[in-house]
Amino acid sequence: MSGVKRRYLVTGGAGFVGSHVVLALLDRGHEVVVFDNLSQGHRAAVPEAARLIEGDLADAHRVGEVLGDGPWDGVLHFAALSLVGESMKQPFRYLLENATNGIRLIEACVQHGIGRFVLSSTANLYGTAGDEPIREETVIDPGSPYGESKLMIEKALRWADACCGLRSARLRYFNAAGADALGRAGEDHDPETHLIPLVIDAALGRRPEIAVFGSDYPTPDGTCIRDYIHVADLADAHIRALGALDGRSVTYNLGTGRGNSVLEVIRSVERIGGRKVPVRIASRRAGDPAVLVAASDLIQAETGWNPHYTVLDDIVRTAWAWREAHPHGYGTPLESAAA
Ligand code: UDP
Repeated sequence: MSGVKRRYLVTGGAGFVGSHVVLALLDRGHEVVVFDNLSQGHRAAVPEAARLIEGDLADAHRVGEVLGDGPWDGVLHFAALSLVGESMKQPFRYLLENATNGIRLIEACVQHGIGRFVLSSTANLYGTAGDEPIREETVIDPGSPYGESKLMIEKALRWADACCGLRSARLRYFNAAGADALGRAGEDHDPETHLIPLVIDAALGRRPEIAVFGSDYPTPDGTCIRDYIHVADLADAHIRALGALDGRSVTYNLGTGRGNSVLEVIRSVERIGGRKVPVRIASRRAGDPAVLVAASDLIQAETGWNPHYTVLDDIVRTAWAWREAHPHGYGTPLESAAA
């Protein structure tokens, strides 16, 4: 695909992973239109070189208008409710909103003759039986309504391919982390629930401490192990996956194959930041499996993708740099005052 300028629609392109994928597409010379309702995303996360359309996927008329304003080389779909814990409290909101918006978008893509679709999916749809690295064939048994809603969209994509020829990549992320190496984008959730930004905030004194959710797991140090993948590596995988859709659809895990415990993340932040993190051992968080590590051999073999960031400290370094430079995330006090 290199050298050819293409045009992509990115739903949720103002969010954490979406905005980094937008940067990667622009960096490769493509044209990008972002469709985002800014309920969780940030206007300032959309680079000036991309066009932002503020709109809601529930507005079928608007979605049809945008897709009708082609040609499009593909649609990348990130816009979704994405908090596992929240989905346990509001299952029907997640099931209805994520699945309906996703499936309607797929239908609209078929109606407008779009050939390629990339879905931001999740490792949360795997059953968590053992601590072997998770393969694409590992048993599917979503851990939450959030995971289930992504599975419903994956299934719709299967039929969109079989019945209508829409080729898709279903990308199942493990733990997205880090920030753009040039400092152009970073992670800013409200509320923040993810481990790395929370530990950094505790190190910077913006939070009193980090609560470690459980120290009695069957792991070497008793804390949960996750596969932290740098968001720029995720972005690169999306672009490679688009190129893999010649006449077929694909499903890929996206992780590094390396796991780090909660305590290892804390030690890493202490090394990068050069200061101690106040830690409190708390009880387990409902629904947390002990170990989640990806086997990503399939995307590596089929697209040549390889994670550039294979050392946790290098991931944490980029996250630290962005968070230190953006104490208020995308909403600087200046911007809030002007709004
Ligand atoms: N975690 C923690 N304290 C926190 C937030 C997270 O101990 O304040 C743990 C959590 O239990 C999990 C790991 O950190 O084992 C990663 O959690 P995160 O919410 O970042 O991602 P998840 O694995 O849930 O997608």
